[in-house]
Amino acid sequence: MGIIVQKYGGTSVADSQKIKNVAKRITQSHKDGNLVVVVVSAMGGSTDQLINLALEISEKPPERELDMLLSTGEQVSIALLAMAVSELGFQAISLTGNQVGIITDGFYSNARIKSINNDRIHSELNQGKVVILAGFQGISIDDEITTLGRGASDTTAVAVAASLNADRCEIYTDVDGIYTSDPRMVESARKLDQITYDEMLEMAGLGAKVLHSRCVELAKKFQVPLSVRSSFHEGEGTIVTKENKIMEEVVISGVTSDKDQAKISLIGLPDTPGVAAEIFQALADASINIDMIIQNASQDGTADLSFTTAEKDLDKTIEIVSEIKEKTGFNNVNKDCNIAKVSVIGIGMKSHVGIASKAFRALADAEINIQMISTSEIKISCVIQEDQTENAVQIIHDAFELGQIDSNA
Ligand code: ADP
Ligand code: ASP
Ligand code: MG
Repeated sequence: MGIIVQKYGGTSVADSQKIKNVAKRITQSHKDGNLVVVVVSAMGGSTDQLINLALEISEKPPERELDMLLSTGEQVSIALLAMAVSELGFQAISLTGNQVGIITDGFYSNARIKSINNDRIHSELNQGKVVILAGFQGISIDDEITTLGRGASDTTAVAVAASLNADRCEIYTDVDGIYTSDPRMVESARKLDQITYDEMLEMAGLGAKVLHSRCVELAKKFQVPLSVRSSFHEGEGTIVTKENKIMEEVVISGVTSDKDQAKISLIGLPDTPGVAAEIFQALADASINIDMIIQNASQDGTADLSFTTAEKDLDKTIEIVSEIKEKTGFNNVNKDCNIAKVSVIGIGMKSHVGIASKAFRALADAEINIQMISTSEIKISCVIQEDQTENAVQIIHDAFELGQIDSNA
C-alpha cells in the first residue's frame, strides 16, 4: 500500500465542524486503501492569538519560551482531529514533533529540519492507524522545542512525505489551488492546473503565501509529487511538478506582491573599493537578508546605496549600518517602509523577449513609479509605493491577460 501525506491548514480546522469534515476526508482516503499520514496546522487564528498573549506579557518574549508556547497550537488541533477520526470508527493517533523525532537545528522561530525518525510513524501505520502529526514544530538536538517559521506546516508535510518516500503530498487549504495571483486581491485570477517547482519557489518567496517557500524547496529537491487543493470542495487543484514541454510554452504563471518590505538608503558613501563589502558583511554577520540593491554614483566621488530588507528587520538593519557609519564614511541613512515589491513570474521568460518592457509599460500607463528593479531568468520584481500595490498587481495581471484561459497559448 502506498503512503499519502495530507496537510490541512488553519482555516480547514478552524472549528469543530471543520475538524469533523477533515476527519471524513481522511477516513475516505484510508478506506480507499492508502496509508494516511496527516499534518495539521493550529486552528485558524490561534497562533496569532498565542503571539498576542505573549506580547501582553513581554515586549520581547524569550525565544525559547515563545516556541514552547506556539507549539501548543498544533497540539490542540492534532488531538481534536484524532478524536474526530476515532468518532468515525477508525483508529488514529496524534503525535507531536518531539514524539515523531522531527529533529531541527536550534534556531528558535525559524528552525530547519535536519532529520525525521520514521520508526514511530511506520509502526503506527502498520497497526492500521491514521497518523496525525503536528506541523510547524520539531525538537532540537539539545532537546528544545522549536518552530519552523510562520506557515511552515507545509514544510513539515513535504519533509515527512520525502522522508517516508510517500506516493504524494496533498496540501489542503481554503482555496481550490494555486492561482495566477492571490484570488483575494485579484478577482479575475485563474486557477492553474500545474506549475513548476521553480516558478512556485519564486512565487512563494515573493509573497504568495499559499505555500511556504521551504516546502517547495524540499519538494523540488526530493521530487515529491505535490498538489494544492481545497479542503472544502472536491477537485483536482494544482499540481506542482518539474518542468515539461507544455509548461515552457506558458510565458507568465503569476503575479505576486509583498508589502513586508523596507528600503534603506545610505547617502554620500565614498566611491572606493571595499565599502559595499564592509556594509553587506556586517549585515550578513547579523543574519539580515538583503534583497534588491542599487547604487548611484554621483559626480563628487560619492555614491548613494539603496537596498531592501524585510520590514521586521528594519530596526536591526539601521542599528548595524549606524554602527559602521564612521568606518564606511557615509553621511546619512534614510528608511522607507512605505514600499512593496510586485513581481511577475514565469519560466517562459527564458525564451520570450519584451516581458519586462510590457510590465514596466503597464505600470507607467497607470502612473505607478518604479523605485527599484531586479530580475532573474524567470522573474521580474519592481519596488513601488505600498498604497499602489493592489492596483499594480491588477494592472500587470490584466496586461498579461492572465485571467483568460488560453492567454499564454
Ligand atoms: P493555510 O492556513 O491552509 O496554510 P494560507 O492562508 O497559508 O492557508 O494560504 C492560503 C491563502 O493564500 C489563500 O487564502 C490566498 O488568499 C493566499 N494566496 C496568495 N497567493 C495565492 C495564489 N497565487 N494562489 C492561491 N492562493 C494564494
Ligand atoms: N500555525 C502556524 C502558523 O500559523 C503554522 C502553519 O499554520 O503552517 O504560522
Ligand atoms: Mg499556509
